[in-house]
Amino acid sequence: TATATATATATATVATADGPSGCAPLPVLGRDVTVPLVTGGEVTYAALDYAASAPVLQRVWDDVAAYAPYYGSVHRGAGYLSQLSTELFENARRTVAEFLDCRDGDQVVFTRSTTDSLNLLAAALPDDCQVFVFETEHHAALLPWGSPHAARRGRSGARVTFLDAPDSPEQAVRTLEHALAARDPHDPALVCVTGASNVTGELWPVRELAAAAHAHGARIVLDAAQLTPHHAVSVRHLDVDWVAFSGHKLYAPFGAGVLAGRADWLREAEPYLAGGGASRKVARREDGGVDVQWHDSAARHEAGSPNVIGAHAVASACKALAEAGFGTLAAHEEQLIRTVRDGLADVSEVRFLSLFGDDAPRVGVLSFVVDGWNSSHFAAALSAEYGIGVRDGLFCAHPLLRALLGGDPQNQGECGAPEAAPGETSLNAVRVSFGAGT
Ligand code: PLP
Repeated sequence: TATATATATATATVATADGPSGCAPLPVLGRDVTVPLVTGGEVTYAALDYAASAPVLQRVWDDVAAYAPYYGSVHRGAGYLSQLSTELFENARRTVAEFLDCRDGDQVVFTRSTTDSLNLLAAALPDDCQVFVFETEHHAALLPWGSPHAARRGRSGARVTFLDAPDSPEQAVRTLEHALAARDPHDPALVCVTGASNVTGELWPVRELAAAAHAHGARIVLDAAQLTPHHAVSVRHLDVDWVAFSGHKLYAPFGAGVLAGRADWLREAEPYLAGGGASRKVARREDGGVDVQWHDSAARHEAGSPNVIGAHAVASACKALAEAGFGTLAAHEEQLIRTVRDGLADVSEVRFLSLFGDDAPRVGVLSFVVDGWNSSHFAAALSAEYGIGVRDGLFCAHPLLRALLGGDPQNQGECGAPEAAPGETSLNAVRVSFGAGT
């Protein structure tokens, strides 16, 4: 049964159940999905993979449904629905700016996801920019900067310095300071860092890293994909230059993300996509070419008909979380993490993964390996035999897994799990993650 795959044909119904008492203001959809078990019978599914994608908040669903009859394209004319949608879209920008406590003059660009946001910033880097990134980052934060990728876009790409995995927050700051001190101070530089690890859940010292970056004349972008669903994020307080996050991890549906922060590099860059909406004026030249004036606003990087419903959903989630506050949710997640730890404390085969130590502050994300088990088989058994959905694999963070597990994960798919001989502990892990509704 360990290798059995769950062939769950889940009977999903839209639940309107209240969240657990710990987070009653944040009910989510889909809490009564039942799945068949290989051992017979069926059980209410326990979805514990919020770090991949969180369920949709009931309120977000309701807000989107309320808007659906008034659906129209934005910035496209004087028609009532277009006007209404434009207002909704621009209000969503303001709501996100408030949620992130942005500075005056910061821009909020709607993207598809965190990956898209960081690729957009990579495409907007000034010439000769040097990028500093810890090897422990998610691939979305690790890969957009380098030259093979940039070359495909016809740019030389930034010089990237990969920093070794630190073993404490203090060492992370020292490592960054050391690397920045050695750089050419005349060249622009960008540091990219996560707020909370998608593997260990550990919080990174963002404010200190931002101070170090600025002290050395560098800028910093915060990958807040795992931070925004668990913690208030203040651009102003953390003093980061940009923040990126994804709607689908923030209790909104797939397809919308955000890049928010300083306008200058974004305004000076070529548009991420060329097309309608990004351009202010387009005119044929006598020599047969085309002259284009691009917008200076966020619209510069939002060519094409934007994802208005996605932006509205993200804004709705931001409002719901801001109103509920993160205190109760964080306490609820901490309690669940403790329950998992305590429950597995006597199982000597279980090893929890962390860079900064088991007691380091973290969000509701926890990973572990089980000696003698392939983590993929372990996760499949949890699902098929108990109806518990966790994540297994390398979490799109191969260098981090290598640093944590001390090996060289081979033959794995990009985000998938490597093959391992039966009975061996594999170089992949199991991750449980929590949030509203768990
Ligand atoms: N950064 C972190 C820390 C993540 O956990 C993820 C997704 O798991 C991403 C970036 C990429 O997010 P997306 O797949 O929504 O682009």
